[in-house]
Amino acid sequence: MFEIKVDYEKCTKPSGKCLKICPAMLFGLLRTNEEDFMVVPHFKELCIGCRECEEHCPNGARCCSVVRSLWEELNSY
Ligand code: SF4
Ligand code: SF4
Repeated sequence: MFEIKVDYEKCTKPSGKCLKICPAMLFGLLRTNEEDFMVVPHFKELCIGCRECEEHCPNGARCCSVVRSLWEELNSY
């Protein structure tokens, strides 16, 4: 189980790349007004932790970060 976080302070002009590249297709779009939209991770439980969204985020600084859950981390040892 992975935790997906979109840093909306960095994702001010959403490129939609995470939405296009995610193999689990878990991102959706939410329109915020007539011109703007935001990406929303709708189905977080489908994340396979591939980190493609982080690698391809053009805003740098890992807008969309994937955090391995503590439970998963503890059980991997
Ligand atoms: S880590 Fe992979 S599966 Fe998870 S949200 Fe990012 S692109 Fe999708
Ligand atoms: S790839 Fe990064 S900048 Fe583009 S929509 Fe996703 S989080 Fe925002």
